Parts: sequence; structure tokens; C-alpha cells
Amino acid sequence: MTACLAIDVGGTKIAAALVTLNGKEVQVEKRTQIHTPQNPSAEALDSALTEVMQKFAGQFDKVSVASTGIIQNGILTALNPKNLGNLAFFPLEESVKKHTDKPVILLNDAQAAGCAEYLRNDDVDNFAFITVSTGVGGGIILNRKLFTGTNGVAGHIGHSLADPNGEVCGCGRVGCVEAVAAGRAIARDAAKWENPCDPPEVFNRFRAGDKQAAELVDKSAKAIAHLIADLAINLDIQRVAVGGSVGLAEGYLDRVKHFLAEMPKIYSPEVVNAYYAQDAGLIGAAWWAEQN
Ligand SMILES: [Zn+2]
Repeated sequence: MTACLAIDVGGTKIAAALVTLNGKEVQVEKRTQIHTPQNPSAEALDSALTEVMQKFAGQFDKVSVASTGIIQNGILTALNPKNLGNLAFFPLEESVKKHTDKPVILLNDAQAAGCAEYLRNDDVDNFAFITVSTGVGGGIILNRKLFTGTNGVAGHIGHSLADPNGEVCGCGRVGCVEAVAAGRAIARDAAKWENPCDPPEVFNRFRAGDKQAAELVDKSAKAIAHLIADLAINLDIQRVAVGGSVGLAEGYLDRVKHFLAEMPKIYSPEVVNAYYAQDAGLIGAAWWAEQN
């Protein structure tokens, strides 16, 4: 058995671990985590990756990096540069390859998380993972394979249209799902209230029966329900796992299911909670390395 050094580059943290997969058995060892440099320069991100790579020197025979953003030909770019502190261009593959002569493979973090969740959902052929967190991301499995697309863009479903008259999204388009449903959108709307609060408190108030909070949670849940319906009708997705800090907030998925139930049945794939939480990117990255 061979160990994969899996690295997950997110907006707030960089996690790394040695991951071994044996069928559905997953082992995550020596997990380590550092803060992503805030408003990082390419140099700052490069030295953060150096720190991680040095910690694991000599302990792996391949590297798989899951990162926020779009990965094309080894370069990290961003649809929404805010997700990585305005860093819009970074030579990720080059940065990692400086520290190893082992094979290096890269993919988007939500695509990776989708791979991890698929380990527990591989009784269906077509599967999607949606993370509703600070942003909204996704990973799509078609015919049992991760679909990345030629440009690595596939799965950026948070930038599907939710409301043509909605807010401007961080990607520049008006009315994306992310601009309506993400944690950042909830924070933006709740900050305008007479009694403003942050997203966790929005959910506390929602669960306590507060009408204003319930309307805001429903606005998000409805957008995600329509996104799921679109995935079902566009790609014949049979099951969707929903994760992320908003997606897994208590009571949220029930609201998503409520709005799906209002639609004709063909728009309702099975909807489940995501399982792997914080290690999904690491595990999925290792799975992807094994597939390739
Ligand atoms: Zn967008």
C-alpha cells in the first residue's frame, strides 16, 4: 500500500495528511493544519506549502493537492478571488514540485470533497456534492467518474443562476446561487437588520422560530433546492450530498427538502447529509490520485 500526501488549500486553512485507501477503508494519518496566509501573496502561499511539504519529507510516494479555485494546467486561478484573499493567480503545481520528485496531481477542493463523499455513495452512477459554506461549491460524478472538464471549471455550480435580479456575485455575474445562498450572503443580509447578527446566530434565531431569520434561511435553502433540481434535470443526478457549515446547520437540509418536495418528482433526487466534514478534501484528493 502506498501513502498519498494529500493537501487541502482552503481560504482559511491548509490541511495535510498521509492518506491511504484500501477499497472503502480510509486512513488519515499525521494530519496537520496551518492557517492560510491572509490576503496572501504568491510568495506567502508558496512558503506555507514549503512548510507543509517539509513536514512530510520522505513519507509519501505521491502528492495530491485539493485547492479552492480553478485549477488549469497546474495554475490556480479563481472565479471568486475573495475566496483566497484576492489571490487570483498562483503556479500551484510548480510550487509543490519544487519539493518532491514524486508524481503531483491537483484538483479543486469541492471536486475533491465530492470524490470523498462518493466513496459512501457509489451505489449510484451519477452523484453530486454541494458545499454551502462561505461560498457555494460542488463536485460532480458522472458515470462513476469525477467530471472536471477541460478547463477544470466543472462543478462550480455555485455560479449557476439563482436570481437574475439578485446581488452581484464575487465572480462578477449577477444573481449566482453563491450570491443568494452562501454564508457570506447570509452574513451580508443579516448585517442590515435592525438587530444585526452573524450566520450562526441567524440559525439560532431560525431554530427559535424568529420570522426574519426563517425567511433568510429559506431564501438560501430555496436557491439550493433549485440548484439540486437543475442538477437532476440537466445531468440525471441520482443523489446529492450537502455539506458545508451552512449546509450542515441543524434544520437547514429539511428546508431544502421542503422546497424540493414542492416540485414535480423528477426534480427530486435523493438528498443526504455529507459525511466526511473537514477531511473530505484530503480523502477525495487521495482517491483522485489513485484514479489517475
Ligand atoms: Zn458567481
